[in-house]
Amino acid sequence: MSSSACIRFLRDYVAIPSVNPMGRQDVPDEISGETRLAEHLRSQLRGLGIDAELVGEGARQSVVAEVRAADPNAETLLVASHLDTVPVDGMAFDPFDPVIHDGQLRGRGACDTKAGMAAMVDALARVLDRGRLRRHLILVGEADEELSSVGVRDVLEHLGPRRPDWVLATEPTEMQVVHCHKGVVHAKLEARGLACHASNPSAGRNAVVALSHAAVALEALAERLALDPHPRLGPATLNIGLMHGGHAPNIVPDHASLVADRRVLPGESVESVRAELEAALSDAGLEEVAVTACSLEKPALGTSEDHASVRACSRALERAGRPGSPTGVAFGTDAGVFEGAGVPGVVLGPGSIARAHTAREYVEVDQVEAMAEVFAELLSGV
Ligand SMILES: [Zn+2]
Repeated sequence: MSSSACIRFLRDYVAIPSVNPMGRQDVPDEISGETRLAEHLRSQLRGLGIDAELVGEGARQSVVAEVRAADPNAETLLVASHLDTVPVDGMAFDPFDPVIHDGQLRGRGACDTKAGMAAMVDALARVLDRGRLRRHLILVGEADEELSSVGVRDVLEHLGPRRPDWVLATEPTEMQVVHCHKGVVHAKLEARGLACHASNPSAGRNAVVALSHAAVALEALAERLALDPHPRLGPATLNIGLMHGGHAPNIVPDHASLVADRRVLPGESVESVRAELEAALSDAGLEEVAVTACSLEKPALGTSEDHASVRACSRALERAGRPGSPTGVAFGTDAGVFEGAGVPGVVLGPGSIARAHTAREYVEVDQVEAMAEVFAELLSGV
């Protein structure tokens, strides 16, 4: 059994439940919320002689720790490693018992993303002990990444006008440096009609039929989006995930609605998506259908490949004997939320996103240990 420091840290973190209730009422208090884990990290980091404090409220607090490099002119790196996990329904084993089996450490959050925090805390401890910290570090364990990123907002408020030079979000990228990912916009479309008796439908206006034409127009829009792929991320996509309408078979429906999930590329905004949807409706002559809500659920990430964050992570990976070329991923992260607040950055961490959120979540022990080496290079290297 492995006894390296990062694996001991990771087992401690997995054993402390930090489930994001995701708006549900049925998640027991004993496992819901991030504050227990934030408190654990605060005392662990203070034990290393680092200033650490909690921000946010109630059971949903985040931890923020700061360490200064010797060089006052050094750049400032913010490492964000979310504390929350998805719920534990249907897991194949005790989600909070961090058993190691066949080189895999199991448990909810083992991969997404407690392994990243364990590797970073181990790296920091090593650098403070016998290396030299080359960057000012703000180490954040933030709440609520899996739903609304309340933790990032609490952390930015805590920092006030201060902004780090760049951010590193530790999500499972199998140790590849990720400089871009898609974001998510949700849009609601509503059709208004005129109700009447179904025996004489021409006296009314059918909202379900109007909305169906809109769905066809959106599908044509989705096909056009597919023709213009991003070099790393593929095309933007559009999926109609919900559709409702009508009251009874014998009433011409006066209202119908749908919700579309639009995966956005770097550079797209909620405004550009709304304009695109409105143009599609207008081109199809669908005046009775309107875009009534459009919200940015997760921003995209689009840091340029030659940004300092990408170069620093690539160098650290290569010095540790790993491939350093940057790539893109399909899933959203808090790095996009930070970029939306003016802080560019990257995503880099141990484990595979294919293991995250599953009934058998695990992370490879050797990958967490290798990640700690790379993070130590990143903190101490030029
Ligand atoms: Zn995650």
